Amino acid sequence: MSARVLVVDDILANRKLLQAKLSHEYFEVITASNGQEAVDMAREQHPDIILLDVMMPVMDGFEACEILKSTQSTQHIPVVMVTALGDRDHRLKGLTAGADDFLTKPVDDFALLSRIRALTKYKLVMDELRSREASGRRIGVIEGDDAKGPIDPARILIIDDNDRQARRIALALKQEHRPLLWSEARGMAAKEKSGIDLIVLSLDAKTFDPLRLCAHFKSQQSTRDLPVLIVADFEEEAKGLRALDLGASDIIMRPIDTEELSARVRTQVRKKRYLDTMRRRLDESMELAITDQLTGLYNRRHMMKQLGQFLQRANAGGPPVSVFIADIDHFKRVNDTYGHDVGDEVLKEFSERMKENVRPADIACRQGGEEFVVIMPETAGDMASVVAERLRRDVAGQTFRVDRGRQQLDVTVSLGVATSSGDATTIDDLLKRADEALYEAKEKGRNQVRSCAA
Ligand SMILES: [Mg+2]
Repeated sequence: MSARVLVVDDILANRKLLQAKLSHEYFEVITASNGQEAVDMAREQHPDIILLDVMMPVMDGFEACEILKSTQSTQHIPVVMVTALGDRDHRLKGLTAGADDFLTKPVDDFALLSRIRALTKYKLVMDELRSREASGRRIGVIEGDDAKGPIDPARILIIDDNDRQARRIALALKQEHRPLLWSEARGMAAKEKSGIDLIVLSLDAKTFDPLRLCAHFKSQQSTRDLPVLIVADFEEEAKGLRALDLGASDIIMRPIDTEELSARVRTQVRKKRYLDTMRRRLDESMELAITDQLTGLYNRRHMMKQLGQFLQRANAGGPPVSVFIADIDHFKRVNDTYGHDVGDEVLKEFSERMKENVRPADIACRQGGEEFVVIMPETAGDMASVVAERLRRDVAGQTFRVDRGRQQLDVTVSLGVATSSGDATTIDDLLKRADEALYEAKEKGRNQVRSCAA
């Protein structure tokens, strides 16, 4: 997995060194020599990751990071602060400025590659979600994308067969979060275990293979999106990189610095919640794209698409497809007499009855206004008329309760049925015939089902 990395440092030798290391691993590298240049380049060239030195003339790394993280076009780009060894205050200040991670100089190969791999993976998922967002509906600003400040307590599962080590991690996280030990979680019901935000997995486990467990989590639908933070000893570098390759999100080395642990946990939880929200919004917008907002039935666009597909199959010699159009009788009178709110209630109640009376494979849609269409795959005309009649009877047989149950209305519906015929039925044909049948039902006195012979 490659990526384009922007290396920012005021010293040419440092830039050259990082560039060489990254190029060696097939990353593409661009460079900038101060914060201002970095901000400009990030805006123009959209790198995948930014390695940002702290001490620089013109604009230092903290200021650049603040700007990058508060600018809409650059805020999703992961920033890694590069600080002097032992400069713990700078590291923490960087994380509060919104940096996603940090590295210490001189930059160690293992640390560099593990950070970049972990962040590339995150960036990839983000890009995918962002492009889907861009191609569909806007999902708007997502709250909680603020990279600073505290977060709501997270449920963190600690997996380490060394009980003392596990408890020490739990103790460090207890201030801010709700840690859960693996040994305790085993006896718990699935329900109590759900809602986990992060897994902290120790690489030095003796009683199980932590890499296998990591791979297992990443291969299961239910745990795939859970971030895994690896805890590793310095001699376990290769294993640590392997874990990142298997899908772990981040890695922290022993001896654990509790502030670093807390910062990494916060970053992972924040990212997970952001991605969760993003996924949920996308699902909602996909859903919105095919459903009618008032009734929850499918909308006209979806209906046309589905009908086209069923007709194609029917025309190619497959089973016939039927439709019926249902139109609520005298609906204008309801709106005029009781107002549009009551009118909407009638439409909703009618939709509920429609859902109850069609068969599971039927597709119920609101065509617009008080007109509805039901697509009935693999259904001949007589069967379609039976279903239409069942709906008609249900509507006419039971009054509609509206205005919070204060009013009762008698509602009836007229329905027209049509079925595909031969090998060249078009959507227009079929709907036109159903419409003619509907017109006949209205003509003959409403509250009835008519079908149109092919
Ligand atoms: Mg410098």
